[in-house]
Amino acid sequence: MEWALRFLGVGNASAVELGSPMAVIERDGRPWLTIDCGGEGLTAYQARYGAMPDALFVTHVHLDHVAGFERLFVDAYFNPGRRGRVRLYVPAPVVPLLHRRVGDYPNVLAEGGANFWDAFQLVVVGEAFWHEGMRLEAFPVRHHWPETAWGLRLQGALVWTGDTRPIPEMLARHADDGELVAHDCGLHGNPSHTGVDDLEREYPAELQARMVLYHYASAADGQALRARGHRVADPGQCVALAEPTAPRALPFQD
Ligand SMILES: [Zn+2]
Repeated sequence: MEWALRFLGVGNASAVELGSPMAVIERDGRPWLTIDCGGEGLTAYQARYGAMPDALFVTHVHLDHVAGFERLFVDAYFNPGRRGRVRLYVPAPVVPLLHRRVGDYPNVLAEGGANFWDAFQLVVVGEAFWHEGMRLEAFPVRHHWPETAWGLRLQGALVWTGDTRPIPEMLARHADDGELVAHDCGLHGNPSHTGVDDLEREYPAELQARMVLYHYASAADGQALRARGHRVADPGQCVALAEPTAPRALPFQD
């Protein structure tokens, strides 16, 4: 099986021209699991795949990560084959935040009769969850208040940090199997995000060598990060992943 990571967008919240920081894990060239649902990111998804995502993991609820949900709701709710079947994997502490941000609009349809969650199959996530027979892990990162933002791991293939400050203690545990690590990184750090100085100070060289950076402020900043020797993702870029070592479901026994 061929696994890959498709960056739909790589910009920070202000760098609209680089797209919402959002990606898709692809299996055999097809979308397998989408990470986040930003506005520009969802448009990029539709342009790439000619459809809407069937399964998503939500890292946190800043609007550049969830602004596409209203559109996704409408698409799923009015499609009898998709209503209630779009799988949403959401870390448990993020569920009330997501509800307040995108689920709690009074009378989601003017006609009445619909709840936001009718469109989706919500899967509340603890430290791990199953998707299509594979076990993925979620872990808290450092982005504003504790336990509001989460990273995602497909063991042996990918770690996606989501928006975060450096998290060496978490990656020592959750990125110890040769994974590609897609890491938040701009040219300049701040209390919300990682800067390249932070990255180089906090992580061992072996881990940096497995990183591909995203969530930067401009194309020029991306070039400056490359000039410092880092691998930097472009919008739309597809990066090959190793075959996951993550646990797989066994066939059911009677
Ligand atoms: Zn954020």
